[in-house]
Amino acid sequence: MSTQMDIVTQSYQSPPKQKSKTISNQYIKASQTKHFLLYNVIPALGTVIAIASVWWYPISSVEIGLLIGMWALTMIGMSLGLHRYFAHCAFKTSQTMRVILAILGCMGAQGAVISWVAVHRRHHEYSDLSGDPHSPNPELLKEGILGKLRGLWHAHVGWLTNHEYPNPMYYAPELMRDKTISKINRNYLLWILLGLIIPTILGGIIHGSWIGAIEGFLWGGLVRMFVVDNCILSINSFSHAFGTHPFDSKDKSRNNIWVAIPTFGESWQNNHHTFESSAAIGLKWWQIDLGYCLIWVLEKLGLVWDVKLPTEKMIEARKLT
Ligand SMILES: [Zn+2]
Ligand SMILES: [Zn+2]
Repeated sequence: MSTQMDIVTQSYQSPPKQKSKTISNQYIKASQTKHFLLYNVIPALGTVIAIASVWWYPISSVEIGLLIGMWALTMIGMSLGLHRYFAHCAFKTSQTMRVILAILGCMGAQGAVISWVAVHRRHHEYSDLSGDPHSPNPELLKEGILGKLRGLWHAHVGWLTNHEYPNPMYYAPELMRDKTISKINRNYLLWILLGLIIPTILGGIIHGSWIGAIEGFLWGGLVRMFVVDNCILSINSFSHAFGTHPFDSKDKSRNNIWVAIPTFGESWQNNHHTFESSAAIGLKWWQIDLGYCLIWVLEKLGLVWDVKLPTEKMIEARKLT
């Protein structure tokens, strides 16, 4: 059942102020670079190889199916799981669903569940201000076309190896205390490998050949990682730079239709930064939000409940015009 709650209020308990908000050391810096090379650069190179390989091995409906299927699975993990459920507590669900969402979210290879949530909560706390890990921030936006490009580059790519690491004990204490989620978090690499092995095996079985397995690995694994990467990163960059700003969200977030479908509706960032714990990010009928469509279905099936949505009165109250 949907509940109309005061979703402007932060939905998680902030711990005592004395905890440091960020952690900075050489190990973290090296880990950021390693993560970037493994899970951003290699999928990008894999995508180039996959496209080049079409000359010798034309892709079929199998590769397209594996790409779309794995994209959908990992976007469910990222959008419904890491973002709307773990970071914003936009609905409640069972322990089994929590585990599934956490594993699918880790498969997206954008950071283990606890780190991802910590980075994201810090993004909301400092949205488009100094301290936001990934914003095409306002200073750069003022500097004309070159500044705009620098800001977009930072929000899309640069921040991945160059951001302060938010202290998970400050930003995600309830997940740090959760033994099951901590265990899933520790096995991050395993879930990423699972996301590569599944399309490889399926490609091999369906085509009945090793070439089929390699094609499955490339299209359902590396190309899918590259696509999901850029879907999520486009929310940081384009949806904080281009589009409309109908709500008083106190930041530069924008509603952007262009990437609404591939991002599962996450691109309506101005809506999201205004009603951050709302399970629905698209707030009008035409604002495509595949993530909320799925939450709606899961709610009807009884698999999720206490789905948070803003009331019409709340939406009206935050409108700028
Ligand atoms: Zn944002
Ligand atoms: Zn958010």
